[in-house]
Amino acid sequence: MLLAHQPRIALVTGAGRGIGKAIAETFAADGHTVLCVSKNPASCGGVADAITAAGGKARAFPADVSDPAAAAAVCEAVNAEFGGVDILVNNAGITRDNLLLRMSDAEWGDVLATNLSAAFFWTRNLVRPMTKKRWGRIINIGSVVGRMGNAGQANYAAAKAGLHGFTMSLARELASRTITANTIAPGFVTTDMTDKLTPEQKDAIMRNVPLRRFGTPADIAALANFLASENAGYITGQIFGVDGGMAM
Ligand code: NAP
Repeated sequence: MLLAHQPRIALVTGAGRGIGKAIAETFAADGHTVLCVSKNPASCGGVADAITAAGGKARAFPADVSDPAAAAAVCEAVNAEFGGVDILVNNAGITRDNLLLRMSDAEWGDVLATNLSAAFFWTRNLVRPMTKKRWGRIINIGSVVGRMGNAGQANYAAAKAGLHGFTMSLARELASRTITANTIAPGFVTTDMTDKLTPEQKDAIMRNVPLRRFGTPADIAALANFLASENAGYITGQIFGVDGGMAM
């Protein structure tokens, strides 16, 4: 028999646009209280306001996720006001593509800081209340590129592959507290991040997608919502491609 749904407190980084916004909206529609984090106050604020206007529960916490001091300050406020979060989605991410020989230290460093180090900062600051409650769900948003590599994205692929190593370690370390950790690895999803691609790049990608379409943010949010649910309690340390069949 399926377990009954429980409303929880969820924090989603990068909730201002794209995949993070869809996850925040899906969680809110399912009755969770959603704490929306993004860099630009207008973007996470707009999402939180729209959720609240639609009758859901949400709050905005603008922060640069890659800044450890900002992460500590927001998490301290969240832990004090909400008694911690039950569900954490490390979703904020950026790309700074370049061929290896031309890649600058800043392009490497910014991508590692936002896509990988931030997940460490936010998880470390939010995991203690989960261990006390002996329940938690950590969902890290990786990428098909972290599984397959991609020319021009050595920084991004390294960060996303590293993120899954982080996920597997969390899964082993936190299992005794009934906290699960999983990675979702989206393929190419229609968001601001992929709007930058040229039509030629999009065509080349599409040739490698058996389902012959880009994903939607809702495709990713549907799996995130399941992994956050009561009924996903026996799934941990896994990586799930939501990529139209690109990596198999
Ligand atoms: P997006 O549309 O560009 O949105 C990115 C979100 O992350 C925005 O809300 C942005 O905040 C936030 N963000 C970026 N850097 C941040 C920082 N330093 N501090 C706080 N917030 C920050 O991206 P997306 O396509 O939805 O991607 C979401 C995640 O999915 C990323 O981890 C990405 O790597 C991954 N992914 C995406 C695709 C794809 O095809 N789109 C494929 C595989 C994996 P603001 O709104 O405030 O700017």
